[in-house]
Amino acid sequence: MAARELCDLTATELGAKLRAGDVSSAEITESCLRRIGDVEERVKAYLTPTGDLAREQAGRADERRAGGDASPVAGIPAAVKDVLATKGIRTTCGSKILESYVPPYDCTAWARLSAAGSVLLGKTNCDEFAMGSSNENSAFGPVHNPWNLDTVPGGSSGGSAAAVAAGEAVWALGTDTGGSVRQPAALCGVVGLKPTYGLVSRYGLIAFASSLDTVGTFTRSVRDAAKLLAAVAGKDPMDATSLDQTVRDYAADIDGGVTGLRIGVVTEAFGEGVQPGVKASVRAAVDRLANMGARVGEVSLPHADYALSAYYLIAPSEASSNLARYDGVRYGLRVDGRDSVEMMARTRDAGFGPEVKRRIMLGTYALSAGYYEAYYGQAQKVRTLIIRDYEAAFADFDVLVSPTSPTTAFRIGERTGDPLAMYLSDVFTIPANLAGVPAISIPSGLDEAGLPVGLQLTAPVLAEPLLLRAAHALEQEIAFVTRPRLLEALR
Ligand code: GLN
Repeated sequence: MAARELCDLTATELGAKLRAGDVSSAEITESCLRRIGDVEERVKAYLTPTGDLAREQAGRADERRAGGDASPVAGIPAAVKDVLATKGIRTTCGSKILESYVPPYDCTAWARLSAAGSVLLGKTNCDEFAMGSSNENSAFGPVHNPWNLDTVPGGSSGGSAAAVAAGEAVWALGTDTGGSVRQPAALCGVVGLKPTYGLVSRYGLIAFASSLDTVGTFTRSVRDAAKLLAAVAGKDPMDATSLDQTVRDYAADIDGGVTGLRIGVVTEAFGEGVQPGVKASVRAAVDRLANMGARVGEVSLPHADYALSAYYLIAPSEASSNLARYDGVRYGLRVDGRDSVEMMARTRDAGFGPEVKRRIMLGTYALSAGYYEAYYGQAQKVRTLIIRDYEAAFADFDVLVSPTSPTTAFRIGERTGDPLAMYLSDVFTIPANLAGVPAISIPSGLDEAGLPVGLQLTAPVLAEPLLLRAAHALEQEIAFVTRPRLLEALR
């Protein structure tokens, strides 16, 4: 196996090298840009690469470090999902309607990283307005999974996941409304963290479903996830739903191990529709947890079966309202018409893709006067039952474990004709969004086809330190090597 290059290392490893003066941010950034040059034509992770900006920021980060300034994110090259607003840099949401939209402000998550000396490699491809599980709903074409270029990287943050897996970025930001960080992380063999709702500001996260949307992280290790989270988390006056939590050092207790931790294996997540290779890999990891001294038991989330149905009423309802702002007047695309109503209709018809239109129609219907109680109201009640399921489960267990996704990466085109099959990709990730609890996906191994399997851990609201501690312990034990086949073929 060829030696790993700088772009293949974790941010923690690179941080140590930077502090020791062994490498510069400029060298790390050039390594990432070289990798982008080698593989991007095949992976297509980026919609807007920002190489020139990255070089400039790396130079500044090196100067700051020379001056004694050393945030853990300083000088580390990152990628950012294209639903997160970046000042002066095109932000498309994977949609024709925002194809030429250049935000006049930064989202808070990126503003914090950039203030700390982070380096931006580019904006990553994603499903249109983050609606999808395969990245195939992007108006700008699919992303290819570096483990097998004929398969999807998952979605909706597929570009961020693929970029981190392929060494086209050291780490990345994504968003998770129903699984869009954890599921692509699982399919690409990287770590994906969805924090507690409200822990990271949503300011500048272009809204899909506001009560579910979160900013999450893609990294090559759990320790990196803790560091990236610490850099972006915390109260923001620009987002009233952001939590007033003092940002803690999430990596501080990460070495605490799992001895004595009560770990609940979610019974419902090992049923029909879950690939045998996924079950086997996650079961093997559960055995490891028991051997490591955790107290493992079975736990049921009885209403989880209804989570998908509730989500596909609540998320489209919120989306139908949030996406009303794309009217040809305020942002992006405009297609002229005889009057303003025709202009709006034409703009929205030309600007939105089929999945976005499907959801706007579904949501508008579910919110309409005669059906509100029967659909939206009912879904909100189910949401409450799911929150209670978690409360009951966390009375007996500290952390829950399940597969992240029922399957490993599927072939491009395989599920595009069947929206319901696509929606099923998120059965295990959606409940955490409905309840607002934090969850993380880590690689648990490979299936029989050599594709990564993701294991999900879930913890109570604001129990990120515990979640990261359990995930880190298991990650050390599994010792998964992030080495997509594409990278071997390069050499
Ligand atoms: N795949 C889910 C959907 O299409 C979740 C997307 C997300 O988390 N943004 O809505």
